[in-house]
Amino acid sequence: MLAYRDMKIVFATHNQNKTKEVAALLPNIELLSLESIQCHEDIEETEDTLEGNAKIKANYVTDNFQLSCFADDTGLEVEALNGAPGVYSARYAGEEADAEKNMEKLLAAMEGKTNRNAKFRTVIVLNLDGKQHIFQGVCEGEILEKKSGSEGFGYDPIFKPKGYDISFAEMSMDEKGKISHRGLAVSKLISFLNKL
Ligand code: IMP
Repeated sequence: MLAYRDMKIVFATHNQNKTKEVAALLPNIELLSLESIQCHEDIEETEDTLEGNAKIKANYVTDNFQLSCFADDTGLEVEALNGAPGVYSARYAGEEADAEKNMEKLLAAMEGKTNRNAKFRTVIVLNLDGKQHIFQGVCEGEILEKKSGSEGFGYDPIFKPKGYDISFAEMSMDEKGKISHRGLAVSKLISFLNKL
């Protein structure tokens, strides 16, 4: 078994923002991107759970490239919308939706709602040496009335984490990484890798 600091692991995402966030949290690992292993496939997420979709992505890389790999899937779960958009967060405003359209749709759905509680949930699936491991991170907060800030990505401008009076999009990447769903899930991944 290689020491954690000598490992090469693929992070199965085409999202450069996510790769930057996660690479900053894993300084001792050589994190390989899908591009760097010549995987240009847009791996379809066809399951109806975060865990199912993360497994599809991690398994695609391990099966086709025989490499250790982890993949994540994230959803924003809004209490007043019975957990929507959840696993469908990326496509909330339709297949061709971008972050702006998704946020507009969510703000419209939340108009007049007093319960604005929401949480981001990230599930990471790691395929390592023939075994699969699962890590989860949750960040609670609320949906703002309007967008605020220009950092980050996705729903960041309308999500205010619990205990803070600024949105994710008003935080630096470091600040967000310490408390975010993905940051917490990656911390669990790091603790696991450190114990190997
Ligand atoms: P996925 O994990 O790339 O499938 O993300 C699903 C959806 O949630 C996408 O619309 C992302 O933009 C959004 N999303 C994922 N992580 C974050 C985050 O940290 N902040 C804001 N939006 C996010």
